Amino acid sequence: MEKIARIKDLIIRYRVVYRPIKNPRIEFKTGEMLLIVPPEYKDPEALIVKHSKWIYQNIKQIRIALHTYRERQLNYHRTDEEFKRLVRSYVRYATKKLDVKINRIFFRTMVSKWASCSINKNLKVNNIGKYLPKELIRYIIYHEVAHILEKKHNERFWDIIASIFPDYQQKEAELLDYWLLLNEEKKNRLERISLEHGL
Ligand SMILES: [Zn+2]
Repeated sequence: MEKIARIKDLIIRYRVVYRPIKNPRIEFKTGEMLLIVPPEYKDPEALIVKHSKWIYQNIKQIRIALHTYRERQLNYHRTDEEFKRLVRSYVRYATKKLDVKINRIFFRTMVSKWASCSINKNLKVNNIGKYLPKELIRYIIYHEVAHILEKKHNERFWDIIASIFPDYQQKEAELLDYWLLLNEEKKNRLERISLEHGL
């Protein structure tokens, strides 16, 4: 059942989803907010109050993106080989900068992430990244490699990111734009790719 909450000037539509998980979390997918909580969770609404600042910033960003993503340009000229070459060079750059090692790079079509890094330091990169501007590919790779040093998106993590990408919030917003744009392309059946927002 859809519910409504208010934070400052924003009216927020949300749903509470019960799942067999340990810790509650908040997700934004396709413009709707989901409070995902364990089965016996007592007061999901308290999550909204507790994280109101973070929710507010996220929703603002999403709404801004909704109005801007149509102006973005997807790169249809880059070949798979060029994309892989770019990724490998950015991985070399990031691992050197951060003084970490990664094991292997895999290219996959993923439904919910631009990239991911496993505990055994294998980097998975979403094939759809090939449609992005170079600078965003560089950002995604740096972001993912930085997760070897810090798993969570906490202050320490963003400090690491900010040393190379002081405008990382802008980068995240742009990635959301491209995610939305690729989703639209998918709907238009120009590309048979499956997407949800995430990184
Ligand atoms: Zn991340």
